[in-house]
Amino acid sequence: MSGVIAYLGLGSNLGNKMDNLNKGINLLRCTVGIAVKATSPFYHTSPVGYTDQPDFLNAAVEIDTTLNPIGLLDICQCIEKKLKRVDSVRWGPRTIDIDILLYGDCIMRNDRLVLPHPMMHEREFVLKPLNDIAPQAVHPVYNMTVAQLYRGIAG
Ligand code: AMP
Repeated sequence: MSGVIAYLGLGSNLGNKMDNLNKGINLLRCTVGIAVKATSPFYHTSPVGYTDQPDFLNAAVEIDTTLNPIGLLDICQCIEKKLKRVDSVRWGPRTIDIDILLYGDCIMRNDRLVLPHPMMHEREFVLKPLNDIAPQAVHPVYNMTVAQLYRGIAG
C-alpha cells in the first residue's frame, strides 16, 4: 500500500487492557485501506485529567493508509464501539480509545477532527510510545520531530 503514513495513539483502562489493545490493533490490521507498519511497546501510565480511575495501558501504531482523515476517524470510532467503549465521563474509563495523532503532514480542524491531535505534543503517554516507532516524524505545526517534542516534556 502506498498511501499516507499516519500515527495512532491507543489507550485502555478497563477490563483486560493488553487484550483490548491487541484486539484494537488486529481490527486495524483487518481493515481494507490500512496496513499496520509498526507497533510500539505497551506502557502503563497514570490517568491525566480525571485521575480517580485505573491506570492506562498506552501504545502507538504506525499505519500506511489510503483512507482520508475522516474515513480513518470513522474506522477508529467503529473499532472503539465494537470493543464497547464506555463513554460516560470525559477522559474517564474506557475499553479502548483510538486517536489520530498525525496524518502525514496534514493540518486540519473541523467539528469532528483536529490534526495533528491537539494535545499530542504535551502528553508523555502519547510521545513515549510514538518516539519508540517514529522519532523522526515531524509535527507539521511546530516543525519539530517527535524526538524533540519528547525530549522537551520527558521528566
Ligand atoms: P476522546 O474522548 O478524547 O477520544 O475524544 C473523542 C472526540 O474527539 C470525537 O468526537 C472526535 O470526533 C474528536 N477528535 C478530534 N480530533 C481527533 C483526533 N485527532 N483523533 C481522534 N478523535 C478526535
